Amino acid sequence: MSDFDYDLFVIGGGSGGVRAARVAAQRGVRVALAEEDRYGGTCVIRGCVPKKLMVFASEYAGVVDEARAYGWDLQAGAFDWTKFRTSLHAELDRLEGIYRNLLKSNGVETFDTRATLVDPHTVELADGRRKTAKHILLAMGGRPVKPEMPGAELAITSNDIFHLDALPKSMLIIGGGYIACEFACILNGLGVEVTQYYRGAQVLRGFDDEARGLVAEEMQQNGIRLHLGTNILSLERDKSGLRVKATNGDEELFDQVMFATGRAPNTENMGLEALGLELGRNGQVLVDKYSQSAVPSIYAVGDVTDRVNLTPVAIREGMAFVETVFGGNPTPVDHDLIPTAIFTQPEMGTIGLSEEAARDIEPVEIYCTSFKPMQTAFAGSKQRVLMKLVVSQATRRVMGCHIVAPGAGEMIQLAGIAIKMGATKEDFDRTVAVHPTMSEEIVTMKSPVRTA
Ligand code: NDP
Repeated sequence: MSDFDYDLFVIGGGSGGVRAARVAAQRGVRVALAEEDRYGGTCVIRGCVPKKLMVFASEYAGVVDEARAYGWDLQAGAFDWTKFRTSLHAELDRLEGIYRNLLKSNGVETFDTRATLVDPHTVELADGRRKTAKHILLAMGGRPVKPEMPGAELAITSNDIFHLDALPKSMLIIGGGYIACEFACILNGLGVEVTQYYRGAQVLRGFDDEARGLVAEEMQQNGIRLHLGTNILSLERDKSGLRVKATNGDEELFDQVMFATGRAPNTENMGLEALGLELGRNGQVLVDKYSQSAVPSIYAVGDVTDRVNLTPVAIREGMAFVETVFGGNPTPVDHDLIPTAIFTQPEMGTIGLSEEAARDIEPVEIYCTSFKPMQTAFAGSKQRVLMKLVVSQATRRVMGCHIVAPGAGEMIQLAGIAIKMGATKEDFDRTVAVHPTMSEEIVTMKSPVRTA
């Protein structure tokens, strides 16, 4: 019998923490978990899940016009935010219950409170109780951050969006990353007049230029006022809204302003530095490939480590941690070739290297096609989609795949398997097309559009 209260104490009940606690407990390990907010973390409570439900809600806006073009006699009605929000929160309550039950039914002891570190084997709960554990797993996640500027407190972040009393008539979104672009599309679909300021030359920095260019074009086509090379200088409350001064000299009024300017790991006031834990520039816990920190008994997974901030990655890191520490089988997490989707309208699904990143490494061939898909083209829409492969000239391997299309998230999950397996362009070519689909183009592109 060990001298510790538990074999494992997990701080944080989000995707990574809950998964690690559950699978560790299934191995017969004595596990406790502390969560100061709601179980399920960012993904379930204020991220992926409510966001995707809002994506679904907003996509119905275009359905009526499209259905009419197909002969249906439909009339668009108004969107009832209060009704949707009530159902949304009921669903989140249900999911939180599932997360709590997962822990309970696997014998994980939970503490609905904040926990901080006292020493390499001891945590302190908010009420002063101390608990010891052989291993401690930090899984506190991250939170949205606002840049410092006059009036920043008047703006909201993605955390607040699910709780709005009413949808604003107009909204300014600052930023050009996943969250800014997704919410610009969602709110635009729900009927909000959306303006987006992004300080750089093109949104979704780091993704393939051609793919993000098309997303930006479609966003504008759908009515989003996208101002590139523009940032916000200050905000102040005015009788009729929030007055925003922009770097381009504009002064405009908006009902609401949202910062989507990045996230920071939740490592403040946790007692981490005092223990000798190393934190990175963004405040993230620095860990090795086994998610072990500089203090051997303390590990960290998920957004608190600021590696690849995606739910499925946090889950993998949590499982690999359990396998390493309690399975006696050191298991590094493979962060290479992670497929991901940006739920803009249209979506972007992507895996591997952008054309720009790949051609810096070795000579490549680019296969790319952009076209109006059958379903929306029939209804008279100008919407275009894009399918693109970045292929190594030397090995013929597909180094990157970029899809901009409705359902691109679903497509990239499947293309991702082939690419992760090391598929070559010729493997794609010898796969018979599924006709008529959009994604068949991914196996029918015969000649490169360019080499680089
Ligand atoms: P990102 O880091 O992706 O984007 C932050 C954006 O804010 C960038 O465009 C950045 O500009 C801009 N920015 C940063 N600081 C400032 C500033 N001071 N003034 C103006 N603009 C600024 O963060 P997000 O918050 O969008 O998303 C965080 C992470 O969450 C993502 O990286 C992703 O890992 C994850 N996520 C995943 C989703 C998915 O899988 N679909 C959905 C949502 C989030 P610049 O480019 O110039 O640095």
